[in-house]
Amino acid sequence: MNLAMRVPEIDTHTHTVVSGHAWSTLTENVNSARQKGLKGICLTEHGPDMPQGAPGYTPLSQTMIPQEIDGVRIYRGIEANIIDFDGCIDIHNEYLPYCEFVIASIHRPVLVGGTIEQNTNAYIKALQNPHIDTLGHPEDPKVVCDFESVVKEAIKQNKLLEMNNNSLSAIRTGSMPSLIKYINICKQMQARVCVASDAHFYTMVGNVSPIMRLLDELQYPPELIVNLTLESFEKYLSERKSRLK
Ligand SMILES: [Zn+2]
Ligand SMILES: [Zn+2]
Repeated sequence: MNLAMRVPEIDTHTHTVVSGHAWSTLTENVNSARQKGLKGICLTEHGPDMPQGAPGYTPLSQTMIPQEIDGVRIYRGIEANIIDFDGCIDIHNEYLPYCEFVIASIHRPVLVGGTIEQNTNAYIKALQNPHIDTLGHPEDPKVVCDFESVVKEAIKQNKLLEMNNNSLSAIRTGSMPSLIKYINICKQMQARVCVASDAHFYTMVGNVSPIMRLLDELQYPPELIVNLTLESFEKYLSERKSRLK
């Protein structure tokens, strides 16, 4: 099947009201995921340094959520904020082991992007943290980095590169040129990626058609998209478990 027509079975980046500026509950997100035929979602609330973000102990608190709700697997996670150019994040080491999937992102309310060298260093250092699986929207043109160095480090650390559907929406206007450059570099370096909605409302869950169309146009190899199937995502997660042993 043409890549543009495919819906990844797992959405690796979703928010609920717990993030402070998202508008749906987990139940609403799960219903939406189920209706769209998704097999799982990563629950990746914003870390505490984001204004009104989730508390730092959120990963522990998420252990109260069933692993599966109405046939949808809920992967405990967090979208941690990178808080400095050394790649430190706002989730304490004590809570990271509770996460099954961790995204690290630079968000302007927490850290205003620095020089290309500073941003690149922040991303590389974050990727060296074994708990971090991917970087949130690293193609953001407001946080310029050296894609080659970042993608190379992600590959070296067996991490994933995120393809964030929100980068094609009004929230990150003007992302297209850097997004195309980023995708082409990932493709050239044969990087494994995860395609994510970054949903802040239930209708957005699993809705990644625009970014899938772009990946299709740029002929991204489908076998490098780890969350296309539950099976390949689970395979990545077992790899992750061995990494953390
Ligand atoms: Zn983000
Ligand atoms: Zn997000």
